[in-house]
Amino acid sequence: MKKKTVKDVALKGKRVLLRADLNVPLSDGGVEDDTRIRESLPTIKYILDEGGRLIIMSHLGRPKGEVKPELSLAPVAERLGELLGQEVVMAPDCVGAEVKALVDQLTDGQAILLENTRFHAGESKNDPAFVAQLAELGDILVNDAFGTAHRAHASNVGLAEVLGGSVAGFLMEKEIEYLTRATESPKHPYVIVLGGAKVSTKIGVVDNLLKLADNILMGGLMANVYLSAAGHKVGKSKIEPDLLESARRGLSQDLDGKIKLPVDHIAAEELSADAKGEYFPQLDLPEEVMALDIGPRTVESYKSILADAQTIFWNGPLGVFEYESFSGGTRAIATAIAESSATTIAGGGETVAAINKFGLARNFDHISTGGGASLEFLEGKELPGITSISEKE
Ligand code: ADP
Ligand code: MG
Repeated sequence: MKKKTVKDVALKGKRVLLRADLNVPLSDGGVEDDTRIRESLPTIKYILDEGGRLIIMSHLGRPKGEVKPELSLAPVAERLGELLGQEVVMAPDCVGAEVKALVDQLTDGQAILLENTRFHAGESKNDPAFVAQLAELGDILVNDAFGTAHRAHASNVGLAEVLGGSVAGFLMEKEIEYLTRATESPKHPYVIVLGGAKVSTKIGVVDNLLKLADNILMGGLMANVYLSAAGHKVGKSKIEPDLLESARRGLSQDLDGKIKLPVDHIAAEELSADAKGEYFPQLDLPEEVMALDIGPRTVESYKSILADAQTIFWNGPLGVFEYESFSGGTRAIATAIAESSATTIAGGGETVAAINKFGLARNFDHISTGGGASLEFLEGKELPGITSISEKE
């Protein structure tokens, strides 16, 4: 790899700021899925073993520049401490005098976790004043947050500029190496499975993915948007007009029919844990229901396309897999990908949660910690969080 890594710098006695991605799903005040914490462990352990004074930064959720106690990283500090077998001090904030005092007390090999960086509006705005406050806390920046690499924020990009560059952690290194190999010369047929609910951030990449892939299999809310754009009735699903516009553009560019859409649905009148899914064997839905999973005929047709694939990239669940009634499509497609002999890559917070829920993680060649970031990487875009990592001399 051309980028410097944490192995290329001396860490002993240094105040090492680590931008990790500890944006884990929480439930009942605890960590629901600790994949991202576990993935960050190799870098964290290495820095501590080398005698660095470790100051960990992360965001959690989307507090939009305000303190939201339910998005505190405190449960993460606790779980991280358990996994490490040593205390991880939880800071009350990520900048300021009190935090500075706690950092000054660190000795070699000790760790502190700063509070959610997105409690400050300066994080997402890459505000120089906020960057300067963060910079007071450390000497070196290690960037292990691939999940935010597509964003130029204070804790990954601004801080790198002020501290004279950054180095990659092991997770970042693995992501760059794997995704580079998979995208430089992917084997064909190359099939992309695209689902989930964050349609506005994903729809922009479809135009470019059409140039790379032989097929794009759509599911989730994403599919509803494309079905609606193609003139079908999607019932109750709310779809914003500007998304329809992008979807229509994608469909009009798709002269070879690479985009595949569901042909049947599991739908319900409302989205809740005890909602019973009803099977609709047709494309168009009545007004009073919304599609919450792909149907069995869609599953079969997607499986037959996946069966011939040599490279598969998956981002976004195909239905509301969190609820048993709407998990069938995601489970079936996840299993088909896991059993495939193709090179298989998956990315995205909920996608990874689904893979773990079905116990299939070991069957994937690479599980990316970034959904949006891995999509933009595949697309061939420059990611500011990666650009800001120093090149090897
Ligand atoms: P990822 O984190 O993997 O990138 P997203 O954040 O885009 O995926 O979306 C994940 C969410 O999409 C899941 O929580 C799932 O419940 C939801 N979802 C999937 N299908 C539908 C659907 N048809 N309608 C509404 N939400 C859906
Ligand atoms: Mg998500």
